[in-house]
Amino acid sequence: MGILIKNGTVVTALDEAILDIRCGDGVIVQIAPDLDAGPGDEVIDASGQFVFPGGLDPHVHMALPFMGTVSLDDYETGGAAGLAGGTTTFIDFCIPGRNDDAMEVLADWREKSKIATADYTYHMAVTCWGEKSDEWLRKAVQEEGITSIKIFLAYKGAFGVEDSEIIGAMKAAAKYGAVVTVHAEHGEMVAELQNRLFGEGKTEPKYHAQSRPSPVEGEATNRVLMIAAHTGATAYIVHMTCSEAVQALAEARERGQICYGETCPQYLLLDDSVYEKPDFDGAAYVMSPPIRPKGHQEVLWNALTSGILQTVGTDHITFSREQKEMGRADFRFIPNGAGGIQDRLSLLWHHGVSPGRLTRQQFVDLTSTRAAKIFHLYPRKGSITVGADADIVVWDPEGSRTISARTHAYQNDENIFEGFQVKGVPSTVVANGHIVYRDGDLRVERGAGRFLARNPAPLTPPVLARSTS
Ligand SMILES: [Zn+2]
Repeated sequence: MGILIKNGTVVTALDEAILDIRCGDGVIVQIAPDLDAGPGDEVIDASGQFVFPGGLDPHVHMALPFMGTVSLDDYETGGAAGLAGGTTTFIDFCIPGRNDDAMEVLADWREKSKIATADYTYHMAVTCWGEKSDEWLRKAVQEEGITSIKIFLAYKGAFGVEDSEIIGAMKAAAKYGAVVTVHAEHGEMVAELQNRLFGEGKTEPKYHAQSRPSPVEGEATNRVLMIAAHTGATAYIVHMTCSEAVQALAEARERGQICYGETCPQYLLLDDSVYEKPDFDGAAYVMSPPIRPKGHQEVLWNALTSGILQTVGTDHITFSREQKEMGRADFRFIPNGAGGIQDRLSLLWHHGVSPGRLTRQQFVDLTSTRAAKIFHLYPRKGSITVGADADIVVWDPEGSRTISARTHAYQNDENIFEGFQVKGVPSTVVANGHIVYRDGDLRVERGAGRFLARNPAPLTPPVLARSTS
């Protein structure tokens, strides 16, 4: 007994055609025109709709202890929100503290992941580079199947690392074949600006944005790409927001360096006027990097269109209004972050595909296939091929939805896209061969999500930085 998806226009990162897809035992077993239903097959009629590989969000945080609190969506609710929006796989970050045993923290992460409703894996954060770090990294890659790491240049005094530590981590990542994801902001400069602004009595949310202007991101992006080039590491810059950062990435790619960039819907669709909202409402938009002034958004869209940026993630991390209130008197204490995993596909479709900025193939590549390739999950994820996991989104281009905290699936009382109307929504979502969402009805199972062990894949060729200039 399986699932047969009939008459849909199957869209991949390369092409599209009207084909039927048969799923059984959790995988895709047949793709052909005009397939007949077998006994007991559940048939989904996708006439007039598109059929995509399930979305892959390469950047989320579930139940993360951060800034004196814990983010609200966990592996159960965050995974469910993703499924409701067509994202069937996500990558969280396992983040040890500077003085923690990374392997112990990884064991804790595995424990809290057991309730996952969707498939997942982790990027392993490297928050210091000490005696044991090389061995931890080797273990993560070779024994735990975690083939990507994360370094933070921001969050000085918490997760942030020094340049010498970046060099150590990147050399080891290159040695073991791990991709290095990077939060690129100049940590010292941010701390200086934060303290200066607060010292001048500037306490409101908008000063969060002013304390991390775009050159702070541009410099760090440039620096970390230079270090990657000289250590042979593959760098993937997360949540890129501004023209300076895009330019740094474009130049590195032009020089032949293998490196990647991600942006998120909030940086494409919002501008810094959100911080002017009255009554502390701007706190909902406090995240790092911050929402940028008008002008940067167009640069990001163009970078998606032209292929300078490769993926769209979300940096999903939800905090309630009450948690945000921790920084009412001092913007430095507002927990950073916002939700997005449920809304990513619809926002990118509505604002990217519908106006003609992106083709449907680019949409699939940006939301699923490319991240699967970069992070060693392809072709199990991010593809519609026989043998791939049966993670499939049936997409109704005529369906619409108004995004709102009243109806979203997040454990949060605010949504930064409140009131956004989107046309183009999932009508059916299949994950591992099970229908988990159909026409507004979410049927997830606690614990059904699986940890995805990875190998540094042959699909990503061994990376040699070709530029040393
Ligand atoms: Zn993040």
